Amino acid sequence: MDKKYVYSFSEGNKEMRNLLGGKGANLAEMSGLDLPVPQGFTITTEACNRFYEENSQLWDSLLTEIDQHLEELEKIQGKKFSDPKNPLLVSVRSGAVFSMPGMMDTILNLGLNDEAVKGVAESTENERFAYDSYRRFIQMFSDVAMEVPKALFETKIDEAKEAKGVKDDTELSADDLKEIVEEFKAIYKEEQGEDFPQDPKTQLIYAIEAVFRSWNNPRANIYRKLNNIPDDLGTAVNVQSMVYGNMGDTSGTGVAFSRNPSTGENKLFGEYLMNAQGEDVVAGIRTPQPISHLEDIMPDIYKQFKDIADKLEHHYKDMQDLEFTIERGKLYILQTRNGKRTAHAALNVAVDLVEEGLISKEDAVLRVEPASLDQLLHPTFNKDDLDSAKAIAKGLAASPGAASGKIYFTAEDVKAASEKGEDCILVRQETSPEDIEGMISAKGILTARGGMTSHAAVVARGMGKCCVAGASEVHVDERAKTIKVKDLTLSEGDVISIDGSTGAIYKGEIKKENPKMTGNFGKYMQWVDETSILNVRTNADNPRDAKQALEFGAEGIGLCRTEHMFFHEDRLPAVREMILSNSVEQRQNALDKLLPFQEEDFYEIYKIMTGLPVTVRLLDPPLHEFLPSKKEEMDALAKEMNLSYDEIVSKVDELHEVNPMLGHRGCRLAVTYPEIYRMQARAIINAALRIKEEGADIIPEIMIPLVGDIKEMKYVKDEIIDEIGKVFEEKGTQVEYHIGTMIEVPRAALMADEIAKEAEFFSFGTNDLTQMTFGFSRDDAGKFLPEYSEKKIYPQDPFAVLDQDGVGQLVKLAAEKGKAANPNIHMGICGEHGGEPQTVEFCNNIGLDYVSCSPYRVPIARAAAAQAAIKAKNEDIHIDK
Ligand code: ADP
Ligand code: MG
Ligand code: MG
Repeated sequence: MDKKYVYSFSEGNKEMRNLLGGKGANLAEMSGLDLPVPQGFTITTEACNRFYEENSQLWDSLLTEIDQHLEELEKIQGKKFSDPKNPLLVSVRSGAVFSMPGMMDTILNLGLNDEAVKGVAESTENERFAYDSYRRFIQMFSDVAMEVPKALFETKIDEAKEAKGVKDDTELSADDLKEIVEEFKAIYKEEQGEDFPQDPKTQLIYAIEAVFRSWNNPRANIYRKLNNIPDDLGTAVNVQSMVYGNMGDTSGTGVAFSRNPSTGENKLFGEYLMNAQGEDVVAGIRTPQPISHLEDIMPDIYKQFKDIADKLEHHYKDMQDLEFTIERGKLYILQTRNGKRTAHAALNVAVDLVEEGLISKEDAVLRVEPASLDQLLHPTFNKDDLDSAKAIAKGLAASPGAASGKIYFTAEDVKAASEKGEDCILVRQETSPEDIEGMISAKGILTARGGMTSHAAVVARGMGKCCVAGASEVHVDERAKTIKVKDLTLSEGDVISIDGSTGAIYKGEIKKENPKMTGNFGKYMQWVDETSILNVRTNADNPRDAKQALEFGAEGIGLCRTEHMFFHEDRLPAVREMILSNSVEQRQNALDKLLPFQEEDFYEIYKIMTGLPVTVRLLDPPLHEFLPSKKEEMDALAKEMNLSYDEIVSKVDELHEVNPMLGHRGCRLAVTYPEIYRMQARAIINAALRIKEEGADIIPEIMIPLVGDIKEMKYVKDEIIDEIGKVFEEKGTQVEYHIGTMIEVPRAALMADEIAKEAEFFSFGTNDLTQMTFGFSRDDAGKFLPEYSEKKIYPQDPFAVLDQDGVGQLVKLAAEKGKAANPNIHMGICGEHGGEPQTVEFCNNIGLDYVSCSPYRVPIARAAAAQAAIKAKNEDIHIDK
């Protein structure tokens, strides 16, 4: 038998998401729960993929299958598709496996034509409704299926409203709408060169094809890229019999969350509009009413809706995002899905659901997207400054956070300005999917129109971006690029601040403050720690970062880079002197000046990290990075060193390298100038001895960078040990320490079994390892990597997300070889990848002991580590420890 490509709602369920898409699977599930769902059928995601194989056309056997399901639907509904008297009308709705808000387009009232519209008018005794539905259908069909610009139609409506002197589309009469229908058909003919299709079957086929095509439209592609959704999942198509919210004052349509998606508060949250259809609520055509208001005007419907929302929450064990329509006093549910939420809401809902007994702590740990925790780690406005600031206007608190920046009025302008390094606020009447790139680049988003479920609000919450929506007091003139609030006018480039948690808008910049991990956040992180195996350390080379990381739960320092300390202006002269020295004595002299500085640096960091491991990496970058390039600086240095200006210039030239990243750096420096690492080792140990004297504990881990061979490692290590021996002797006391190496040169990964004999720990330096494995210069790859991502050669930037297929093999191999040769070895990763959730999962699964990342990513890595541990347990992945 041929593969089945079409399923009626009664044949599916929520587990069939991959095949039916999220929307289709949930419609089927709700249908199975006997909820009031208009019936229909779903064409599968596999059909979408086959559609592309068939050169973007529907094939015969699929058409037959669709016909069969249409007949079945006709029987259920007691109406016939194409019947001019009492036609079955349907919606054609896309639905991918992961919900992609606003990316795919829906067509309503399909099946109407010049005859059927009369039939509908008669059978419903509502001519206005019939023509309202028809004009909507023509507009949606033209826009979505045929790509006729939406604006052409909208302008006509605006003109009609103006001519009649009315504000809302509901005030247009049946006759007005009839006229509009004629004008719409004329637009269609003008744009398409043919009449608006009258045959419902043709309409349906065009619409289905359009949904499949929309899978590949640019907005959908951008959204998938942003959210790491594979391109070959495809979208399903749902064909569903229509219910009508535009039948008059006892009809309406709305959207609601079972809990508040900004805060997580356990209370219905949403909006609705009476006498409206489909997207009217989210499109900001009229200002919607809050859902609580429905309780006043239709208490029975409200109660029924609330019960259904509760039932679905219990069924899905998660907060739900619902779409509903009321048709002449009867409630229908058109969609449910797990609601998108801010990280703040995700945490609160997860913790509440545990406390309500609906889910386990482990479930709760899995409920928060680790990367989204970033939203909670961002600054809020300083309270005192905020209290003394006066809001110029207020909008809806659509997506929490605090943002200041220059205002820009188009997505392109925001993108351009932020590429220049400016902080920007995107200001729009209302946003649409075309604005998505501007929304990504902006620090915050301000709109004058639209509610809590408007495009701006939904997308901003998804991105964790601060957003104030529907600020109706703000008059946005997109053409003049100004905003006016009462008598204040601000123009492009002026700075404002917006508070997405209160909706307040301020002129100028307001100071921001760092967040705290208390309340439900604290509780969540405690559950995280109870479940994770992998430790999380931080990359920090100054007390401020170390302290911040500790507050975020870091369990030590995995990478303390020493070169940043060398760049300090009070040390740079001595560093330069050391580099340019002609003799060992001269160099030693300069190093002696640096020693106390280094010792103090380590001491200050140790003091914060007492009781925890601190891995210090010895000097790594090519020396010429420290040298002066300006004439004044060279002059000053010449004086300091008793050399001539020309001598300095020629020294600097001498140190120039064609390819410094592969040059004289890392432990290669110590092979040539062992006294540099000796000085650093002495500083590390001196500082540790001081801590010990004070009665505290610190175990320094000395890390040798860029090792490629055991003999190289051994040479450098012996120098260090010799120096430390001297220190112990001089001080007459000792302290525990460890010496290990970075694994960042591919050769080191291949020779890891040898190297492990001399190393007490390995730390994977995946930045360099990626650079050298791909042969991509980290500093230049930015110029061409975007093309690689666009052309799907390397879909993800390998410097951001570890390339598990290639570089990952080296990491895994080295980890296995290292452990086999030295069972006591401990291992971690300290490249940029250490805070990236997919990489953290990889590190967990290959049995590393820790990941190390920048302070602000510590909570993210902790959550990712816990989730990895739970997933590994559930999937029974054997972790080699
Ligand atoms: P999206 O994925 O963009 O939310 P939907 O397919 O959910 O698109 O549809 C858009 C709007 O049309 C929603 O408000 C939905 O409730 C409404 N809608 C879809 N199908 C029907 C239908 N059969 N009857 C009435 N309204 C519908
Ligand atoms: Mg929807
Ligand atoms: Mg490196």
